[in-house]
Amino acid sequence: MDRKRIYLSSPTMHGEEQKYVQEAFDTNWVAPLGPNVNAFEKELAAYTGCGHAAALSSGTAAIHLALKLLGVKRGDKVFVPDLTFSASCNPIVYENGEPVFIDAEPDTWNMSPEALRRAFEKYPHPKAVICVHLYGTPAKLEEIMAICEEHHVPLVEDAAESLGSTYKGRHTGTFGKYGIYSFNGNKIITTSGGGMFVSAEEAAARKVTFYATQARDPARHYQHSEIGYNYRMSNVVAGIGRGQLLHLEEHKAKKKEIYRQYQEAFADMPEIMMNPLNPEGDANCWLSGMVIAEGCSVTPDKIMDALEAENIESRPIWKPMHLQPVFADCDFVSHYADGTSVGEDVFARGLCLPSDVKNTQEDMELIIRTIRGCFEG
Ligand SMILES: *Cc1c(COP(=O)(O)O)cnc(C)c1O
Repeated sequence: MDRKRIYLSSPTMHGEEQKYVQEAFDTNWVAPLGPNVNAFEKELAAYTGCGHAAALSSGTAAIHLALKLLGVKRGDKVFVPDLTFSASCNPIVYENGEPVFIDAEPDTWNMSPEALRRAFEKYPHPKAVICVHLYGTPAKLEEIMAICEEHHVPLVEDAAESLGSTYKGRHTGTFGKYGIYSFNGNKIITTSGGGMFVSAEEAAARKVTFYATQARDPARHYQHSEIGYNYRMSNVVAGIGRGQLLHLEEHKAKKKEIYRQYQEAFADMPEIMMNPLNPEGDANCWLSGMVIAEGCSVTPDKIMDALEAENIESRPIWKPMHLQPVFADCDFVSHYADGTSVGEDVFARGLCLPSDVKNTQEDMELIIRTIRGCFEG
């Protein structure tokens, strides 16, 4: 096949990135600190209204240090969504904590407040709750925050997929005690790899920076009272981030338009439902997804194969964490009282569609035609 590949979500560069990277080289700030790092933190904080930010080597590192700050240690339970990428929960295990997987709810595919309530009945004293805004759709934050406050348990917002999404007019990532963003290659903006820890508390961002730079005590000689990490973002990488941030709103508008086109194209097909949005929010539509109606004989595999035959990338929904071999010993609390899992159902019937900022009108038509073809005849 000589036609170019259509991607799920690939990096989209604009040129300004190179200007900031060049600046880093020209001034020899080729190090995990420097003017781009400081400016990227300030610019992201100003954009999201998060207060304070600490630029790190990945979103996973940001989750890890958020849990460090909350004092997660051996045997502590941490509630985390079941339907997410494994990076949301791996850092719990880095600290020897125990993830408890909370099922999704059908309205937004995010952490179910009903399941969360039930988890608190079973485990009244988790160390933290992590919520995720899956594929950019804000979770039911009001309900989730009310439950966390009632139990005096801090909320960490994994907003890795939802940079630019808002809930009731405020940016996701800024609701929890701590929030995190990711700039991995496939995210809405990318630095090739990177992440950000954010908080309204300046001391928290400072402590994260301390941990991320080997936890060095303020002394001339190298002295350490705590275990540190090498998690700081490079000044070269931060330059890419500064250039990308200038185009975040544009990427969001494009991804929302992609979602709208899929929705419109499948509106006449009762066999297809799009991934849900939250009416209380404005999603960045990082990835558009669809589910096949119950009882329909077409499978996600059939659609992914048909797309692949046209050199079009697609992907299954995240496989729920409670189905992962590595987490077989962890508890799972389902949305429904009878134990049926919403996440399993979405995983079985859903898939993620190409949502690349560079998708052309022609690309969209080909994707839509290919998917519709799977349901004909
Ligand atoms: C991408 C992602 C992460 C991890 O971010 P990295 O920067 O790749 O470490 C965490 N959580 C979710 C939900 C993600 O999609």
